[in-house]
Amino acid sequence: MSYCPNCAQAISSDASACSRCGALFDGGGWGPQAIVPKQHRLVGPDKRSVLEKSLDAVAVIGLVLGPVSCGFAPLLPAGTAVVYAFIGVPLLVAAGVGAALARLLLYLLNRFLGQKVPNEA
Ligand SMILES: [Zn+2]
Repeated sequence: MSYCPNCAQAISSDASACSRCGALFDGGGWGPQAIVPKQHRLVGPDKRSVLEKSLDAVAVIGLVLGPVSCGFAPLLPAGTAVVYAFIGVPLLVAAGVGAALARLLLYLLNRFLGQKVPNEA
C-alpha cells in the first residue's frame, strides 16, 4: 500500500495517477509514497524538551495518581495508610501543582521571550 504525496489517498505503488485528487505521477521522484505524507499525519513529532516532559509527568503523577491512590490506602498496613493519606498524598499533590505551575511559567517564557525556530521540514 502506498499513498498519494498530494492528498494521502491510499493507492497502489505503481499507480500513474491519484484516484482522488487526480495528481499525475512521473514514475520518478514524484509518485506514490510508502508512508503517509507528513502534512497528513494526525500526530506530529513530540517537540517537548526533556524538562517539559519531566514536568508533565510529575504534574500528571501528582495531580491524578496522588488523589486516585487514596482509594488504595486502606490496602496498606493500618499505621502506614494514615501516614500516606495525610502526608504522602498532600506531598504528591503539592509536587503536581508545583510542576504544573513551572510548566505554565516555562510555556509563557517560551511563548513571549523565546526565539522563533523555523519549522522543520
Ligand atoms: Zn491524491
